[in-house]
Amino acid sequence: MDHFQYRDGRLCAEAVPLARIAEEVGTPFYCYATATIEHHYRVFADAFAGLDPTICYAVKANSNIAVIGTLARLGAGADVVSAGELKRALAAGVAPGRIVFSGVGKTADEMAAALKAGVLQINVESEPELDVLGQVAGSLGVDAPVAIRINPDVDANTHEKITTGKSENKFGVEWTRARAVYSRAAAMPAISVVGVAVHIGSQVTDLAPFRDAYVRMRDLVAMLRADGHPIERLDLGGGLGIPYGDEVTPTPEEYAATVKSAIADLDCHIILEPGRVIVGNAGVLVTRVVHVKEGAMRTFVIVDAAMNDLLRPALYNATHAIVPVTEAAAGTELMEVDVVGPVCETADTFGTGRLLPAMKPGDLLAVRTAGAYGAVMASTYNARPLVPETLVRDATYAVVRERMSVDDMVALESFPPWLAAPDKAAREAGG
Ligand SMILES: *Cc1c(COP(=O)(O)O)cnc(C)c1O
Repeated sequence: MDHFQYRDGRLCAEAVPLARIAEEVGTPFYCYATATIEHHYRVFADAFAGLDPTICYAVKANSNIAVIGTLARLGAGADVVSAGELKRALAAGVAPGRIVFSGVGKTADEMAAALKAGVLQINVESEPELDVLGQVAGSLGVDAPVAIRINPDVDANTHEKITTGKSENKFGVEWTRARAVYSRAAAMPAISVVGVAVHIGSQVTDLAPFRDAYVRMRDLVAMLRADGHPIERLDLGGGLGIPYGDEVTPTPEEYAATVKSAIADLDCHIILEPGRVIVGNAGVLVTRVVHVKEGAMRTFVIVDAAMNDLLRPALYNATHAIVPVTEAAAGTELMEVDVVGPVCETADTFGTGRLLPAMKPGDLLAVRTAGAYGAVMASTYNARPLVPETLVRDATYAVVRERMSVDDMVALESFPPWLAAPDKAAREAGG
């Protein structure tokens, strides 16, 4: 379900034609639909209604403050993995008491920032991290509310680069060591153990690994309580997958049913950290055709967006649907083309063998389902400035991140003292 549909042959975000935004802000740009973000949040929250969980939107999926703010207004908390994301969540109006701080490599400074902000809980992923947190909390004179992230050793059956719950992954404390780590944490003065956390991966499209991991967590909570630990919260992470094409993925209702049956009558407050399922199909990347090149074997539609703007195809071999912004008339002949960016990497390919109407320079294409892990992963490779992000609501839109300029990029750089600036060197050489 999304709000990017053709109206009178023009692809619109809600009621705003994407071609109009392209005229006004230039290409490439990201466009998000408020109605889709809100719809997905509500569907997810409604699925868990009886459980009354805290839903902490995983900010890393899309950390634009306007997107976080849209969700915060609906009551979402935030799951953050860096001091930067913490700052964004607070700036977007998320209450500190609804923020979970996750991540394998939190620095002492990041821990201090989280404790000073008064976050709900810090999910600790290792014993060395626990020790540092104990020292940081002690020196601030506060108690750190902690959940230990457990690695349940289940295979999430997702892409190897986004599977996180196998024992060979860097995430969490091995479940077989959980009791030992909890008793150690309980003995630490500035650590207050409040919960257990788990997150098995992303783009998980099979409910079985969720069920296996959550059953294991239920048994663990029971065991830890029997050991005398006051486990009040169970953080089940995120990871629910979404369709990128016409594949069928579990609905939030089915996922909620899996959660409910796995944790059964465990009397524990549940925290959920959905990211992709909330924002994934709430965004598109709009790009303009630069050239159409007839290669020896294939036709290349070369567009002005590239892997630096949307990394998922290059990094995960992800398939995103690509559609023309002007709807092809019924019966239009389709051609098989590769849609590629201008970056000097063969991986800079958005799609191979795609069926599209004949494209010409200047035409607009929309890369769909680009709302999650899109703009947040962008880089400036090939000295390409970060592209704007726009947010639509009904018939209006706003630019929620300006296009960066090359001057902005270069302004952070300088010549070292031993290299004269080129214009000065040229003058001194008499040139
Ligand atoms: C990435 C991440 C999430 C969100 O994952 P999605 O697949 O986007 O739902 C939730 N929790 C943690 C700890 C994460 O690292």
